[in-house]
Amino acid sequence: MAVCGAGPAGSMAARSLARSGAKVALIDKAAFPRDKACGDLVGPQGLALLDQERLVPDGAVVVGDMALMGPGGNRRVLPAVAGTDHPGRALSMPRSSFDAHLHQAALEMGAMDITGQVVGLDGNSGAREIALAGGASLLADWVIGADGASSAVGSAAHLSDANDSMFGFAIRRYVKADLALPIIFFWSDSALSHLPGYGWAFPGPDGTVNAGLGVAVGANRRAAAVAAKRLDPFIDSLSASGVLAGYDPGSSSRPLGGWLRMGLAGIRPARGRVLLVGDAAGLVNPMQGEGIAQAMHSGIAASRSIVASPANAAGNYTAWIRDNHAGFHGSTAALQRLVLEHPSTMGLFGAVLTGPWMKGPVAQAWGMYWNELLAGATPGTAKSLAMALDGAVRLSTSLTRTRRQMRRALRWA
Ligand SMILES: Cc1cc2nc3c(=O)[nH]c(=O)nc-3n(C[C@H](O)[C@H](O)[C@H](O)COP(=O)(O)OP(=O)(O)OC[C@H]3O[C@@H](n4cnc5c(N)ncnc54)[C@H](O)[C@@H]3O)c2cc1C
Repeated sequence: MAVCGAGPAGSMAARSLARSGAKVALIDKAAFPRDKACGDLVGPQGLALLDQERLVPDGAVVVGDMALMGPGGNRRVLPAVAGTDHPGRALSMPRSSFDAHLHQAALEMGAMDITGQVVGLDGNSGAREIALAGGASLLADWVIGADGASSAVGSAAHLSDANDSMFGFAIRRYVKADLALPIIFFWSDSALSHLPGYGWAFPGPDGTVNAGLGVAVGANRRAAAVAAKRLDPFIDSLSASGVLAGYDPGSSSRPLGGWLRMGLAGIRPARGRVLLVGDAAGLVNPMQGEGIAQAMHSGIAASRSIVASPANAAGNYTAWIRDNHAGFHGSTAALQRLVLEHPSTMGLFGAVLTGPWMKGPVAQAWGMYWNELLAGATPGTAKSLAMALDGAVRLSTSLTRTRRQMRRALRWA
């Protein structure tokens, strides 16, 4: 078996396959440790899985409540609340260390480490031939595409369509500063132009802050340039508004950006003996841009589908995606398309989310909803409010093109 890509999705998939006794090659174009553009926050569902797998890394910073800041500078706090299947906290750790930790765990379980760039996939049934840059190739009876947002496996297996996908682009720097709470900032440097995204500053180990800006671009990847152009003005504004105390511009790392693929849009998760996981499957949350937890969970789900029932693996994995992610991703991807078509709604969105009503159960409900934590939320007023919001969004988007496409894609296997 071959797992192409050794980010969180691929390493978890390879580790799970190796644990079941399979012979598995874990292929990545980079040698580990490698840097990766990210906000570095592993959310509560990710932390729960790491805990269950005894893989919680040493040296991470524990993060709880999160501040939201609106375009006018008003701030609210989203409380971190434990649910029935996740803790009330998250982890922050540079991806260079986090991904190397998971990669090592996969190798220790018996996965074979192969450094090479996947450039093609041949064969329609039985063994698939994976072509690597430079001319080498290998044969695998199963292929898991874990090669991120621009997945070569997804394209080669005709499981992803870039023209129908919803991409995002985000870019960050590490800076030295004091930061009281992780913060998400619905930032705009002009009252008239709103970014279809947000900025963030998250505390990391050793007094380092990860500060970045991300935008949704739909299928138009050229629109990503705005994030890179506005990163430094954004960081300056964080400093000017007092969020980054003692910020020293000379301490900044070089900027590093990367793509996100969201909302399962333009994706068919599996067919035959090829399964896509993590960002390759478009599993980044369209509301807040996180995907590490979904990547790790989907990697394990794909591996288990193959091991438990090889004859029905693609169908079973597709059903897992449908049951666990389709409702939220389909409806919020449709909302994201609305924001892309009408960017001014982003200013309204930021203002509503940081209004005076954003406290108590309302703030808890929003935290559950947009972090995709509703299924495992503890019953109570906040969960009821979040369920009502979720129901309203699903109903109001049920006839959109985005939802229709997803229903079609997830019926097949
Ligand atoms: C700037 C930014 C900030 C983000 N912040 C957060 C955050 O704070 N929290 C969060 O949860 N998510 C965040 N995300 C999303 C998160 O990074 C992804 O959801 C997550 O990394 C997905 O994991 P993955 O294993 O699917 O893919 P990746 O982590 O992208 O790993 C893919 C791997 O495949 C390899 N690869 C790619 N192409 C090939 C090829 N052709 N051949 C061989 N190997 C290949 C790459 O080298 C890489 O190691 C952010 C993304 C960006 C860009």
